[in-house]
Parts: sequence; C-alpha cells; structure tokens
Amino acid sequence: MTVQPHRSMPISTGMAADLGRAIPDARGKLTANAPLAPLVWFKSGGAAEWLFEPKDVVDLQAFLRDLDPQMPVMALGLGSNLIVRDGGVAGVVIRLGKAFAKVERSDEVTLGCGGGASGILVSSTARDAGIAGLEFLRSIPGTVGGFVRMNGGAYGSEVKDILVDCDVVLRSGEVKTLPVAALGYTYRHSELPEGAIVVAARFRGRPGEPAAVQVEMDRISASREASQPLRSKTGGSTFKNPEGRKAWKLVDAAGCRGLALGGAQVSEKHTNFLINTGNATSAEIEALGEEVRRRVKETQGVELEWEIQRVGRS
Ligand SMILES: Cc1cc2nc3c(=O)[nH]c(=O)nc-3n(C[C@H](O)[C@H](O)[C@H](O)COP(=O)(O)OP(=O)(O)OC[C@H]3O[C@@H](n4cnc5c(N)ncnc54)[C@H](O)[C@@H]3O)c2cc1C
Repeated sequence: MTVQPHRSMPISTGMAADLGRAIPDARGKLTANAPLAPLVWFKSGGAAEWLFEPKDVVDLQAFLRDLDPQMPVMALGLGSNLIVRDGGVAGVVIRLGKAFAKVERSDEVTLGCGGGASGILVSSTARDAGIAGLEFLRSIPGTVGGFVRMNGGAYGSEVKDILVDCDVVLRSGEVKTLPVAALGYTYRHSELPEGAIVVAARFRGRPGEPAAVQVEMDRISASREASQPLRSKTGGSTFKNPEGRKAWKLVDAAGCRGLALGGAQVSEKHTNFLINTGNATSAEIEALGEEVRRRVKETQGVELEWEIQRVGRS
C-alpha cells in the first residue's frame, strides 16, 4: 500500500518538484515535508521530502523493501555533524527513535547498542557494567549510528577500536551484520554501503572499576567544556585534521578566528568549529567554511577537507 503527501501537510516551494511521489505505508511515523532545522545542531536548513521514524527493525525493513528504488534515503542521528542545505533533502530521511535507543550488556566487556542510542547512554551503561575503554563516547554528542558511520573518535580512541560488528538495514530492506573489518575504516570515514541504516552495534571494552571509569568520563567532560563551544549551534569539527597537522591551528594561522559571514562565525573558542550566532542560513555556514578553506590554502598551502557532512539542495 502506498500513500501520497496530502494537502493539509505543509509544503515548501523547494519540494514542489517532488510532490506526488508515492511512498509505502508504515507502522512508524511518516511526515511529509518535515523541517529538519529543529533536528540538527546548527538549527538551519530546509525540510526533508519525507521524514520516517520507524517503529522497529521489521517496520524499517518493510518500508525500504517497498520504497521506490529511485528514492534516495539517508539516516539522521542527532545532526551533530551535518549541514542540511536550505533547499531541503529529497527522498526519505530516516531517524531512529526510542525503540532503537537501548543499550544492554551482552558479555563481561561487550555492550549491544541500538543505532539511535546516545554516546552518553552508551558510556554511562559501560561504567555501570564495569567496562572501561568506552569513556570517549561521553564527549561525542551523537548516536551509535552516527559514530559507526563517521568512525567518531576523541581522546586517542575511535569507533574502529571498540566496534565488534554492526547490524545494518540495506537500501533493499535486507538486514546484514557487518564485522568491523568490512567497514573500511580510516580517519572519520567508513565504507558503509550507500543508504544503509545502522540499527545496532556491539562495542567491546575491557574490565574496569566503575569509579575509575567515572573519573575518566569527568576528566573528558571538563576538558571538552573548557575547549569547545558546546552550548552553541554548531556542527562539531568542521575539517578533518590533515596528516600530522591540526585543522584548528591552520585555521587560526590563516587569521580566521572569529571570521563571520552573515549569521555564521568561526568560533573564537575553537577555530575548527563554525557556529550559527543567530539566524544563519546553511548557505552562509557552508560559504564561510569554503572561505576558510580558501584562506588556509592561500596562506598555509594546505587543502582542508570537510569533516561535516553536507546534504541536500542549495
Ligand atoms: C560540540 C560537538 C563536539 C563534537 N566532538 C566530536 C569528537 O570529539 N569526535 C568526533 O568524532 N565527532 C565529534 N562531533 C561530531 C559528531 O558528534 C559525530 O560525527 C557523531 O558521530 C555524529 O553522530 P550523529 O548521530 O549526530 O550523526 P549525524 O550528524 O546526524 O549524521 C552524520 C552522518 O552519519 C550518518 N548517520 C547518522 N545516523 C546513522 C545511522 N543510524 N545509520 C547510518 N548512518 C547514519 C548520517 O547520514 C551522516 O552521514 C562533535 C559535534 C559537536 C556538535
């Protein structure tokens, strides 16, 4: 069975060309023309043609299996590493809700985590279970799906060091378990198949005393608080650190600290963070990033590569 967007649903002109595309029915929540700005850290950008919040894995599988293969699909976590362009995202954006946010111990040192679980929940469950080595996830404001996709890392650890395997629902609707070796991990990059949604992951640590794990989590939190604009509308690290260099140092050396364009600004606190100081458009945020890249290339001779994922239409 398929449904069409109906007339009472808000419609932006950016989406008009896509109206009328059929979409499978589902048990979860399907919203046509759903604003994404409230769902991402930058609080900017356009709407999703469709936003789908599946009820469970079976619902997600059936939906993807029945969805027109031409319809693009992308996953959204907490939107903490994302610029959604102002023209919105064509196709279906999939957001994992409560049913995917569970974290459970599966053996002495391993946690089974839902793809929508937050880093805070994973690290605090690890602490309570006496598992060390997952503390760094405390400081990354994303979901398990985003961590697996981005090879999230901090304080000398990254996801590839703790991931055993993950379950993904492929664009075809098929569920597959991918071992860490299949993900082709490099710095802040994985080779997750296009359109695959990470619905679960198993992270392995090592035995640890809960009190000592807490001390490490507190140390990480305090260090974060001191060095990053955590209470701003931001997208985390904007550029990847080039081999052997720090992106923030290059941006600073290029004279970009505090540089502004419309409502977008290079953070004064951490120069590898862009912030939305009020009502920046995504176009302003992205153009500021490009201007920083240009200045770093011109003055430092280094081509910075975006770490932030930029999606949708300008
Ligand atoms: C203040 C701040 C500090 C940060 N510090 C760090 C840091 O120290 N280290 C670090 O690595 N990152 C950091 N980040 C960036 C960000 O938190 C990570 O990249 C995180 O992994 C993104 O997770 P997310 O769930 O919010 O993904 P999103 O930002 O929503 O999406 C990022 C990418 O992951 C994909 N994705 C999301 N969920 C899934 C899923 N279930 N299945 C498949 N693909 C999915 C999206 O399609 C997109 O391509 C920081 C961000 C902020 C705002």
